[in-house]
Amino acid sequence: MAASTPVPRHVRLAIVGSGPAGLTAAIYASRATLAPLVITGVPSGGQLMITTDVENYPGFPEGIQGPELVVKMREQAARFGTEFLDANVRAVNLNVHPFVLDTGLTGLIHADAVIVATGANARWLDLPNEQRLRGHGVSACATCDGFFFKGKDIVAVGGGDSAMEEATFLTKFANSVTVVHRRSDLRASKIMQERARKNPKIQFRFDSAVEDVLGSDSVTGVVIRHLPSGKQETLPVQGLFLAIGHDPATEVFRGALELDEKGYLKTTDVTRTSVDGVFAAGDVYDHRYRQAVSAAGLGCMAALDAEKWLQEHREPVAQLSRVVGTQQLPPIAARRESR
Ligand code: NAP
Repeated sequence: MAASTPVPRHVRLAIVGSGPAGLTAAIYASRATLAPLVITGVPSGGQLMITTDVENYPGFPEGIQGPELVVKMREQAARFGTEFLDANVRAVNLNVHPFVLDTGLTGLIHADAVIVATGANARWLDLPNEQRLRGHGVSACATCDGFFFKGKDIVAVGGGDSAMEEATFLTKFANSVTVVHRRSDLRASKIMQERARKNPKIQFRFDSAVEDVLGSDSVTGVVIRHLPSGKQETLPVQGLFLAIGHDPATEVFRGALELDEKGYLKTTDVTRTSVDGVFAAGDVYDHRYRQAVSAAGLGCMAALDAEKWLQEHREPVAQLSRVVGTQQLPPIAARRESR
């Protein structure tokens, strides 16, 4: 007997992603009785899940662990009727309405409105000991973790604006910051370069690659190689900060939503994407602030915008819902992993 095709389900609002942007959007949307469905992404929770102490999220004077903050947000959203589907969106069709999302796990999801909150992931160097020491001296977020490096010596990697900004920021706490960059010139804007070059706590190692980070429980050194000479050296530092860019998690929306040259969603009027009824929240388009609290704020804005949009499009949405039957759906545009 042939397996039966799972029945599509219809929701008013689908939220893709379950970091602070997606979960805050869910809290607002569920309180507005939109009964949103959060397709969490797997693993769920976003970058906070790999963050230890969060000390700059308001409301937690003693600080809070990243994963615990995610759990609290998720519980708060569930309390008001948010439903969660622990899956990745593997394909979308935003040319039809209701929009179609395919997780490959359940039947297709038809949504009157969508909030994309899939975030961005920091790039890592794939060093042998990098992941083991992540949270124990290895970090990709100076704003989050710089405070824990008072009086320490640090290596910061990268030659862009982020590296200059993070190195400069880290000197508020650190004894010294050595910027290691693989080229002889920086790509950072002149003003950011100047600021870093003038800072007496910052030194530069050009034409150099980081080969490993050392330490059993915490970082004790960083191995670098001077590329022209091939000379290897171990810098005795207690921190390694990576500032080599982020990759937005937008692959599944490529071809369906407008992206900028770096793959971030393009938005207008803060949260509106290139498709009417599809909104964006958090790091998936904000490559400037990239904070849990700013992502949460953008999640709030996206939910309010989606709610308003749904109210304004109540009638057309209802009519279209009847017209677009399950048999008439055009083929899904993209078939890629969302993360
Ligand atoms: P970016 O401009 O892409 O710079 C990334 C840096 O990391 C580059 O120097 C690159 O080296 C290096 N890098 C990349 N992969 C590497 C690897 N595997 N090993 C070693 N080095 C590697 O990224 P960003 O600095 O995060 O900036 C992203 C965007 O945000 C930019 O448009 C930037 O202007 C903007 N931004 C602005 C501000 C501000 O205005 N306040 C602050 C931060 C960021 P190469 O140079 O060799 O490619």
